[in-house]
Amino acid sequence: MQRRGMLKALAIGAAGLVTAMTQPVRARAENEKKIRWKMVTTWPQNFPGLGTGANFLAKTIGELSGGRMEVKVFGANELVGPFEVFDAVSRGTAQMGHGAAYYWKGKHPASQFFAAVPFGLNAQEMNAWLYHGGGLELWTELYAKFNMIPAAVGNTGVQMGGWFNKEINSINDLNGLKMRIPGLGGEVLKKAGGTPVNLPGGEIFSSLQSGAIDATEWIGPYNDLAFGLHKAAKIYYYPGWHEPGTTMEGLINLKAHQELPGDLQKIVIAACRVANLDMLSELTARNNAALTTLVKEHKVDLRPFPVEVLKKLKELSDVVVAEIAEQDPFSKKVFDSFTSFREQAIHWHSVSEQAYFNARKG
Ligand code: CA
Repeated sequence: MQRRGMLKALAIGAAGLVTAMTQPVRARAENEKKIRWKMVTTWPQNFPGLGTGANFLAKTIGELSGGRMEVKVFGANELVGPFEVFDAVSRGTAQMGHGAAYYWKGKHPASQFFAAVPFGLNAQEMNAWLYHGGGLELWTELYAKFNMIPAAVGNTGVQMGGWFNKEINSINDLNGLKMRIPGLGGEVLKKAGGTPVNLPGGEIFSSLQSGAIDATEWIGPYNDLAFGLHKAAKIYYYPGWHEPGTTMEGLINLKAHQELPGDLQKIVIAACRVANLDMLSELTARNNAALTTLVKEHKVDLRPFPVEVLKKLKELSDVVVAEIAEQDPFSKKVFDSFTSFREQAIHWHSVSEQAYFNARKG
């Protein structure tokens, strides 16, 4: 009896051991169900460069997490409107968003510094300021007030000046012009007597074609060709003085991020850095082929803005950007950080990138 009892106990013990050994696996499968996040965006679904940049971020998070996380991307108006992305992520309707910070100047004027400043930093310099010049800390401080973590997720590089149906020969030609141009560039146009309009990407072509706006800027040749903007205007000006290296923005709901296991928290942030580099690389690689198609096949009239126009725009830009700093103490802090970094960038790049570009040109 005693021996049988002992054997029974051993058998139970062995079964218990087997249970104990398999439990962590089962518990992990049960407790750590796949984490499903939603990402809302200001772009049309799959839109080249931007929508695909959001897709790339979602895919990267999925892959780096080994499939423990899945992020579903929603194009503009699929879950929320293009300009509701900020609020949707802030209140947790979606855990993530993808857009550009200058769309949220109504939330806080300083947000514009984290997207693009006329005659400000180019892509390389924006990343330097954000990652190693204190920019990201300021951006994080600002968005914490809205329950969000910001991340740089893509950069367009220097954009194009835009599409016009009339020549811009002097600053006076901007007077009375109704143009789609977001952020601080729009404020500069206003100073020049024009009317800036803030339209989401998906509405630009129809507005230009119908004459609801006289001119528009969007991004660069690759993106502009995809929208067919050359069918609505023929003169294509450069450079994009108003957007010299626009940072696209990833928004992460603070609470949703805190609820992730520690390694996934880091993976989400790391994936944003990966996607930040990828978009700039993709657009840099594709823009020239698109520009050639626009000029050669579609007979687009490609022109530089006259030097005098750019000079005047720069003067107006300096006034507009300084005005932001006067609005509140936080904007002043961001302005000071940005402008002192720009001074450093101008100085260093005059003997590096700029000197090299000049030398290469021959
Ligand atoms: Ca633009």
